Amino acid sequence: MSGKTTNKPLLRIENLKKSFGDNEVLKDITFSVNEGETKVIIGPSGTGKSTLLACINMLVTPDSGKIWLKDVEITGAKDLNKIRQRIGFVFQDFGLFNHLTALQNVMIGLTKVKKIPKDKARERALEELQRVGLEKSANFYPAQLSGGQKQRVGIARALAMDPDIILFDEPTSALDPELIGEVLAVMKDLASSGMTMLVVTHEMGFARTVSDEIIFMENGVIVEQGPPEELFSNPKHERTRQFLFKLT
Ligand code: ADP
Ligand code: MG
Repeated sequence: MSGKTTNKPLLRIENLKKSFGDNEVLKDITFSVNEGETKVIIGPSGTGKSTLLACINMLVTPDSGKIWLKDVEITGAKDLNKIRQRIGFVFQDFGLFNHLTALQNVMIGLTKVKKIPKDKARERALEELQRVGLEKSANFYPAQLSGGQKQRVGIARALAMDPDIILFDEPTSALDPELIGEVLAVMKDLASSGMTMLVVTHEMGFARTVSDEIIFMENGVIVEQGPPEELFSNPKHERTRQFLFKLT
């Protein structure tokens, strides 16, 4: 369970639809994430999970439906850059700049996007690297870091921007099994510190122990959602049962 969960919706998604050509990828998605909550999305690949996250910061434009971040409608926003600054994104493939050090990767959003002076940005970036246990690797380039360390830099970079929510798209899928734990541990800490998180993952242990609620998605629809203890021990739908059974 994460800490400091409230009943205030921070992110609201209403009747979201998205097709690519004939391929109806998101069929009618409605859910919300409360402030301080960690929500996990599970489901087979090709189901639309990445498309859903991409819609939330408008990297992909939905066909219809509405997305709200607190009281701002993202889907109708004029200044997308301003909204994107409030939404952290952690990618499966880390998305680091290879020609920049860990520290520079964390600093760059602060200096280029937030226009924070370099010395202040460096201080903040070092704080976030420390938070993910990487202060000693600040001057290393991505090529000198393990996959788990690269992903922790990715998380530090998201944190440095002071986001309202962080979206994680299969953050440990590209990692060797022995490196997954260090990334999940950082995410678990974040969840208990009260960060609002929406996490797509196949890590059922994480889903079970860290999430406040789990969404099971398949073929562009939310099949069911609920607290992990309910979903795992008493899934309402046969499809959920089959998906969980296949994984364990
Ligand atoms: P998941 O993350 O659950 O594996 P995705 O959201 O990546 O699923 O993909 C869902 C479906 O949307 C897939 O059929 C995929 O091929 C299709 N898709 C995703 N992005 C695009 C795109 N930019 N153009 C066309 N089809 C896409
Ligand atoms: Mg995906």
